[in-house]
Amino acid sequence: MKIQENAVVGMHYTLKDSEGEVIDSSDGGDILSFLQGAGNIIVGLEKALEGKEKGDKVEVAVEPEEGYGPHRPELIQEAPTSAFQGIDNLEVGMNFQAETEQGPIPVRITSIEGETVTVDGNHELAGQTLFFSVSIEDVREATEDELAHGHTHGEGCNHDH
Ligand code: ZN
Repeated sequence: MKIQENAVVGMHYTLKDSEGEVIDSSDGGDILSFLQGAGNIIVGLEKALEGKEKGDKVEVAVEPEEGYGPHRPELIQEAPTSAFQGIDNLEVGMNFQAETEQGPIPVRITSIEGETVTVDGNHELAGQTLFFSVSIEDVREATEDELAHGHTHGEGCNHDH
């Protein structure tokens, strides 16, 4: 069958940045499964895979608008170390949920200088054009459970919902 909404797709993929550096890859690991049309993967990749079949190989460049969004400078903020009370060892790279007017968003510490901590709420891949090489390993119909949950169920999936 062809990839369409509510198909379960198994793929191997390699993701590179504009310099050709590998950011992420399933090579040597498990096949990544996702439910097409459910927002399990970025929209630009869903669009590129629509209509493809098992055995197809797809090369696609996904712009930020259909990837992890543009880089938004307003999501970079400074806070005094005193705002992080209760956390013993503040380090660059730590992740937090920040309370904002739009609700909680995940932020990452990008620098600590003296008493000033800089946190960034942008996704690490925001603002980047993403270069995917995908090989389609499997396409099948989703089960009713999978459709109800909005994600794929595979071996070892044992959640209670
Ligand atoms: Zn589930």
